[in-house]
Amino acid sequence: MLRYFPTALERLTEEFAKLPGIGGKTAQRLAFHVLSLPDGEAEAFANAIVEAKKTVHTCPVCQNLTDGELCAICDDARRNHSVICVVAEPRDVIAMERAREYDGVYHVLHGVISPLNHVGPDDIRIRELLARVAKGDVREVIMATNPDTEGEATAMYLSRLLRPMEVKVTRLAYGIPVGSQLEYADEVTLLRALEGRREM
Ligand SMILES: [Zn+2]
Repeated sequence: MLRYFPTALERLTEEFAKLPGIGGKTAQRLAFHVLSLPDGEAEAFANAIVEAKKTVHTCPVCQNLTDGELCAICDDARRNHSVICVVAEPRDVIAMERAREYDGVYHVLHGVISPLNHVGPDDIRIRELLARVAKGDVREVIMATNPDTEGEATAMYLSRLLRPMEVKVTRLAYGIPVGSQLEYADEVTLLRALEGRREM
């Protein structure tokens, strides 16, 4: 087969094509765009990837992403460490923090249980949550997974595991429409959801 492009360009295109939501055409456009960048900018882009991979890791307590030993929230003595808000993804922490009313801490699952996508309980950070609660200083666990089928199923599964552990388990009261995503909820909606949370 005739090669139209230099190998390095093909390779760059292939790497872009591996990204979520990027098709072949877009990958090619991005690769050409990178080639058109000044050397310094292209280098900064490549370095940002290497640097992020090198420095960002999960917080050993809440599993959120951090470049410190603990994340800024776990490290903050003014936060209420006896209330844990369980979210699916790091971006959901940002959404909750936007509401500016929640003063507890978080636990990031890094996914939800999804048999269809072959994600089981052992594939997300459930063990870490149970270990945290088992230490005994946690008073309430708020389930803030998305109000869609997988988010609900994950919240139910967790609440069943937590029930014997003498901790209050609550679920956000969704004013957030069923099937929608936490990260797109506005602050007022999130605030109401938090205030109106119900015991599971
Ligand atoms: Zn943390």
